[in-house]
Amino acid sequence: MRREHGNGKEPSEEMPPGHGSNGRDGSVRSALQWRSNGRNFDYLVVGAGFAGSVISERLAAGLGKRVLLIDRRPHIGGNAYDHYNDNGILIHRYGPHIFHTNSREVADYLSRFTRWRPYEHKVQAHVDGMLLPIPINLTTINRLYGLTLNSEQAEAFLAARAEPVDDVRSSEDVVISRVGRELYEKFFRGYTRKQWGIDPRELDKTVTARVPTRTTEDDRYFSDSFQNMPLHGFTRLFENMLDHPNIRIMLNTDYRDVGRAVTYEAAIFTGPIDEFFDYRFGRLPYRSLRFQHETLDQKMVQPVAVVNYPSEQVPYTRITEYKHLTGQAHRKTSISYEFPTDGGDPYYPVPKSENLQLFKKYEALADRTPNVQFVGRLGSYRYYNMDQVVGQALALYRRMSGSRTRPAILHETANLSPMTAASS
Ligand SMILES: Cc1cc2nc3c(=O)[nH]c(=O)nc-3n(C[C@H](O)[C@H](O)[C@H](O)COP(=O)(O)OP(=O)(O)OC[C@H]3O[C@@H](n4cnc5c(N)ncnc54)[C@H](O)[C@@H]3O)c2cc1C
Repeated sequence: MRREHGNGKEPSEEMPPGHGSNGRDGSVRSALQWRSNGRNFDYLVVGAGFAGSVISERLAAGLGKRVLLIDRRPHIGGNAYDHYNDNGILIHRYGPHIFHTNSREVADYLSRFTRWRPYEHKVQAHVDGMLLPIPINLTTINRLYGLTLNSEQAEAFLAARAEPVDDVRSSEDVVISRVGRELYEKFFRGYTRKQWGIDPRELDKTVTARVPTRTTEDDRYFSDSFQNMPLHGFTRLFENMLDHPNIRIMLNTDYRDVGRAVTYEAAIFTGPIDEFFDYRFGRLPYRSLRFQHETLDQKMVQPVAVVNYPSEQVPYTRITEYKHLTGQAHRKTSISYEFPTDGGDPYYPVPKSENLQLFKKYEALADRTPNVQFVGRLGSYRYYNMDQVVGQALALYRRMSGSRTRPAILHETANLSPMTAASS
């Protein structure tokens, strides 16, 4: 992998040893010297997250194309970036990223770049002074109400509380029609209001639709067939994926910085689509997060990786303890608090119908824009998990390597895991 740094900035502590310090030769000029057929590169790929990295790897290794991959952040990996903090604990800078998929294709593809550590994600919610499993399961019901129901009785218990909703449209409708108002208010209402800054009544049903309710003791957050974490972390996986002589990387480099300086046949853009078009039709709303990272002088602090705090009296939504995810042995432990905000990096497209209408306008414009493909979470304004983004990039590659004409934004993905909006 060749890594270059635009704007003269070095990645400093974002790139600890073993996390991306190899292969730098430090100048934009050396990237530009890479020229044949009058062009510097075959492809410019904007954004070094899963979308941009997968498509770069495929174009380079699969088609022998020369790729310039840029990112305005000082590191590769996009939101999945992880690194060792000052105490030597592996943390996820942009909040907990748990890998899970039902797609054999996606798992096999990523397995070329990492070995895996088995990990099944568990989440608990802090409700009525207790830590209770979420998604709601048999244990949640029995502990919350001091009961000893079996599965059948728990089903009847929930059915008696569920409120029939004729036309399930909103996130509130979904939950109330399944478990009733009381459990909705204890576990979902406050969390969703904090997370999205709007009432669940105004949020599309997709946000909570896929969070299951169980009447067994299964306390896994996901039920996908493949649940594993990359053995040495996500950043190492990205480094291995991008370690190809046809790929050059420039960090600290915005798309606009390279615009005319580099020549290429076509671009693949994985940043926000409205930004690409200078917000011509207005801004697509995003919800963001502020992370507060802390290291504590104790071995472990909470029983599971993530504890949700649905109460609106608590300003954060959840606390993550990273050692649960990574399996790292260390005498200290690192956690992060998440505070949802409107400003900041664009993380979550807000699933409301008027926003989707606005996106459609950008999508139509993208279709009329030659030589640029939009892919990834921000390029598609979709709530995609990592496996879905990998599947989308692999599908784009299949199209690019074949002769079929393609839409500028590809919504086709592999057989993928359900979206889990309440979790990530
Ligand atoms: C808090 C949080 C938790 C999550 N948890 C999970 C989880 O547990 N499991 C799961 O499967 N998924 C999870 N996700 C989703 C996951 O992060 C995404 O699916 C995945 O990272 C998307 O990859 P991407 O390449 O599309 O976008 P990103 O990872 O966002 O990468 C896009 C990159 O493009 C760069 N960029 C943007 N504009 C420009 C520009 N103009 N010039 C240069 N560079 C630019 C950005 O700097 C960024 O690095 C989570 C997301 C968040 C925010």
